[in-house]
Amino acid sequence: MGSSFNELVWLCKALEATNSRNAKVRLLSEYLGRMQPEYSKIAAYLLLGLPPDVKGRRPLSVGWSTISEALSKRPTSTLVQEPLTLLDLWSSLKAIASIQGTGSRARKVAVLQSLFQRCSGEELEWFLRILSGEMRHGVNHGLMLEAVASMTGADPEFVRRVDMLVNDIGELVKLAVSGELRGVELRPFQPVRPMLAEMCDRVEDAITLHGGVTSLEPKYDGVRVQIHIEGSRVRVYTRRLTDITERVPDIVDSVRGAVVVGSAVLDGEVVAVDESGRAMPFQETMRRVGRERDVLKAVRKLPLRLWVFDALYIDGEALIDKPYEERRRRLESVVRQDILAPRLVVREPAAAEEFLKRVIEEGHEGVVAKDLRSAYTPGRRGSKWLKLKPADRIDVVIVAAEWGHGRRKGWLSNYHLAVLDEEAGGFAVVGKTFKGLTDQEFQQMTKRLLSIKTGETEWGVTVRPEIVVEIAYNEIQRSPHYESGFALRFARIVRIRSDKNPLEVDTLQRLRTLYQRQFEKKGRPVDEGDPA
Ligand code: AMP
Repeated sequence: MGSSFNELVWLCKALEATNSRNAKVRLLSEYLGRMQPEYSKIAAYLLLGLPPDVKGRRPLSVGWSTISEALSKRPTSTLVQEPLTLLDLWSSLKAIASIQGTGSRARKVAVLQSLFQRCSGEELEWFLRILSGEMRHGVNHGLMLEAVASMTGADPEFVRRVDMLVNDIGELVKLAVSGELRGVELRPFQPVRPMLAEMCDRVEDAITLHGGVTSLEPKYDGVRVQIHIEGSRVRVYTRRLTDITERVPDIVDSVRGAVVVGSAVLDGEVVAVDESGRAMPFQETMRRVGRERDVLKAVRKLPLRLWVFDALYIDGEALIDKPYEERRRRLESVVRQDILAPRLVVREPAAAEEFLKRVIEEGHEGVVAKDLRSAYTPGRRGSKWLKLKPADRIDVVIVAAEWGHGRRKGWLSNYHLAVLDEEAGGFAVVGKTFKGLTDQEFQQMTKRLLSIKTGETEWGVTVRPEIVVEIAYNEIQRSPHYESGFALRFARIVRIRSDKNPLEVDTLQRLRTLYQRQFEKKGRPVDEGDPA
């Protein structure tokens, strides 16, 4: 039941036809509830326009030109064909994702063409939407979770928690359909998304938000790691849950030497250091962590240093629902001091400022303030952890790019930058920049952008929102030019954040707050009222 692509297309059309959130939840939960577990998993991915290998995040990498070539080869009169099943579609998409090397484009065209051939007009339309990742039927991750709650009768908060532990929407739907949601628990070697921090601009706000007392730690400018331990077995995962154990033997060694425990899941950050132990710039850490060949040579040249700051699990017990204060105590009882992130528990803004100043002088980015009472909420960004950085910087995603002129001819070198609009859904453009990258980076970026192109314009290309960059800017201005109502003045790329996914960029709502805050230190221009 429910295994045909045609049924999924009917559902998509029905979803698109209604604006009611409740109706969408009902349609989805009825549809998924009728399915075999294995199919429900595929249906969930397809409904969200996700490519295969969602966990590894290998993109499908079929550009629009490949798709149009396959379309142009689609015969107009088709013989009676076997109807497409979800399994056909999914295994072909997987096959496409694994095609590499010479002649790969032609092979992709051939697979697509044979699929297109089997589609009716309507099926083709929705298949193209799946390929572009833009379904436009109003179902996002959150709505899918609501449908799971409605289908199983489980509390939505419980479903969100299980989602964080499972970390794979298809897998979650499958567990729900087979009635196995309750059995999901945190355990070693099943990485979960790390808890994230929200931006905060003043230490006094952090103290207030945390109930009059907060715990400050340096904000390390490195790569987040989750360390899983059982006996002598150690595995290290990134924040995107990639297993990088083989690339970081020095970290595995320090864990073996400095953690005394039967089993554990620890949270921390690694930073590349020079001979004198000083932290290297972020790009160096990324380069080192990304290095897969000649690892031992890299370890000698650019060793990594580990700092742990949280414990999610120790000796058979999941700790994520315990308050941070208790988790920290448990952490301190199993790790040696030299890999433990130092912290200062403060009530007074002056003491916090002092700590922040010292930490910046030591070369860190800022501090993270943690609420002593807070549980560990995997994958969530909230006010329980607050990052305080001195500079005006935000994370944005590239949504389009313009061809360069003169020396930059042939490169996509002017980038349209967008923040997440949580209210309206989607991304809102807040500026452009052609500053901050080296020539080599421009060339690599051009290639990457072309591989995620969604359309062409007379000035350049529009792209799937995938590439996250950190931007420094001088000022946020009101702008009639962009729909967002804002423009960043003198935006420049500080770094490419390949460790971040687009849903983690800063929000329009936050930009609004930052805009308002600018006027606490300087006068407000006469023509600039409060933006909506
Ligand atoms: P950002 O990357 O700017 O969103 O800041 C959040 C990141 O800061 C986390 O994902 C961690 O990788 C990093 N971080 C550095 N030091 C700490 C710390 N002491 N506690 C928590 N996160 C930290």
